This record gives sequence, C-alpha cells and structure tokens, in this order.
Amino acid sequence: MSAKIIDGKAFAATVREKVKSHVTRIKEEDGITPGLAVVLVGEDPASQVYVRSKGKQTVEVGMKSVEHKLDAETSEADLLALIDQLNNDASIHGILVQLPLPKHLNEDLVINSIDPAKDVDGFHISNVGLLGTGQRSMVPCTPLGCLMMLRDYHGSLSGLNAVVIGRSNIVGKPMAQLLLGDSCTVTIAHSRTKDLPEVVRRADIVVAAVGRPEMVPGDWIREGATVIDVGINRIEKEDGKTKLVGDVDFESVSKVAGAITPVPGGVGPMTIACLLANTLTACCRANGLMEPE
Ligand code: NDP
Repeated sequence: MSAKIIDGKAFAATVREKVKSHVTRIKEEDGITPGLAVVLVGEDPASQVYVRSKGKQTVEVGMKSVEHKLDAETSEADLLALIDQLNNDASIHGILVQLPLPKHLNEDLVINSIDPAKDVDGFHISNVGLLGTGQRSMVPCTPLGCLMMLRDYHGSLSGLNAVVIGRSNIVGKPMAQLLLGDSCTVTIAHSRTKDLPEVVRRADIVVAAVGRPEMVPGDWIREGATVIDVGINRIEKEDGKTKLVGDVDFESVSKVAGAITPVPGGVGPMTIACLLANTLTACCRANGLMEPE
C-alpha cells in the first residue's frame, strides 16, 4: 500500500487565498485592515527565519504587519510595556511573541500579559481554558492546521482512535483537546508511555509531535491509518549537507499508512496559514464583523 500524500503546502495556499479575499472585503466594505504584531527577542536564527516568513505572508494577504525586534538583553519590564502598548493599539488585532524567549524572561508571565482576544497563538491561559471547556477561543496554530487537514481528508473524525505522541502545551495537549472536540477517542503518549509501539498500533490517526528525527517507524502504524507528522528536525546527511525530516520515518510509514503529511510541505505551511486565519478572526471579533468559516 502506498499512502496518499496530504499536501499541506497546497492546502495552506487555499487557506491564505480565503483569508486574502476576506481581508480585501472588510478593507473595502468596513475600512478595516487586520494587523499582526510579531515580537522577537534576541537573535535565534530559526526564530528570525520564522518571523521573516510570517511578516511576508501577512503582507501578502493584505494585512498590516508590524515587527518588533528587541535586543537579547531586553528586560522583562520593557517587554511587558511593549505588549501593553500593543494591547491598547486598535490597529493591532493579533500579537505573537516568538518563542523560545531568552532564559531571563518568564515565558508564562509574558504570554499571559497578552490580551486574550489578541492572542493569535492561543497560548494565553484563558484561551487554554476556553479550548479545554469547548468554548470559543483562539486555537493554537499548529494543532489547528493539523485538525483542518484531518477534517478535509476524513470528513467526520467521530469515533476514530487518535494517538497524539507528545504532550507539550503548544502542540500535543491542544491537539488532543481538538481531536476530543471532534469526538475522537484520544490517547496522549509521551516519554514515559509504556509500550509506545503497541499504543500507536491502535490508532486510526497518529499525530507525532516529539522532536526526534524519524522516530516512528512503519511497523508501529496500523494499515490505512492517517499520520500527521508535526516534527521539524534538521539532520546531517552522509555528504555533510543537512536536510529537514519529521518525527516519522516517511519511507517505511508511507508504505503502510493510508495518508501522511510530508516534511517539509505538510504541517509547517499550515501553521502560518492558521496564524493569518486567527488574526483575521481576532479582527472580525474585535469589530463585530462576521467571522470567516
Ligand atoms: P517538546 O519538546 O515541547 O515536546 C516533545 C514531547 O515529546 C514531550 O511531551 C515529550 O515527552 C515527548 N517525547 C520525547 N521523547 C519521546 C519518546 N522517546 N517517546 C515518546 N514521547 C517522547 O516539543 P514541541 O511539542 O514543541 O514540538 C515537537 C516537534 O514539533 C518538534 O520537532 C518541533 O520542531 C515541531 N514543531 C513543528 C511546528 C510546525 O509548525 N510544524 C510547530 C511547533 C513544533 P515528555 O513530556 O514526557 O518529556
């Protein structure tokens, strides 16, 4: 069996197109331009790449993009003052603080100082609680992108067995909440899980969010299962060059799975598309406009 490739890159392009046409309409009809502010503290190279890409795509869909690049030594008080200023800026509808932050800054404190209505990453404790209780919230972008691809492929997810490998606050836990919200039977696996291969073999849906290159082999996968690979790992090849791989061994898993997201070109592009969609949603809510679907 050869798995269907779930093309996250193409799906993300359709999401961005929808966002763009909605943005065009509210600009014309309501005179409102959604605005996203991204705050980067320090010079982490991967974070710089993400921030640049986010800014570029924000502009491409017609939104206002503001980038605040702060020195690695920035004090917590200065960062909180900037967030306060953005919270009170009516032209900014989404605020994203790029993680990880330098060690001297308290990440929880910083994230929880963002106005929950502008928290387009969905990491504020209020949004976490709202998601957990099935109420309207801002949903974290990476798991939201995974859910969209799963819904698109399966239609209904009701009753399916889902195994999420990884229990981080930014991917694993919200992913599990979203799958539960769609009536999956959800198992969250992590580094202490006993007999992980057996647990994964029960799954109709596997979401791997571990951060370990190609950890999940084909013989852990039930025939026909859908595999969503969140992992982004840079590894060195034999010729000394590097390449990106996921948490799933694509070669062996794609022979058994029914469908699989590739790395790159799967979950990654969907994450930024969902950030744009969340910013648009935040803007519509702030202005009492009809939300995008
Ligand atoms: P974290 O390091 O925060 O969490 C990793 C999780 O994997 C932890 O819960 C950990 O368990 C679990 N784990 C580690 N080793 C094992 C193991 N041997 N068996 C089972 N579980 C294990 O990572 P993130 O959730 O932030 O990210 C996960 C991956 O997704 C990374 O590769 C990251 O780069 C990628 N990512 C991709 C994004 C995208 O846009 N595509 C966005 C965000 C992340 P425990 O809790 O017990 O330690």
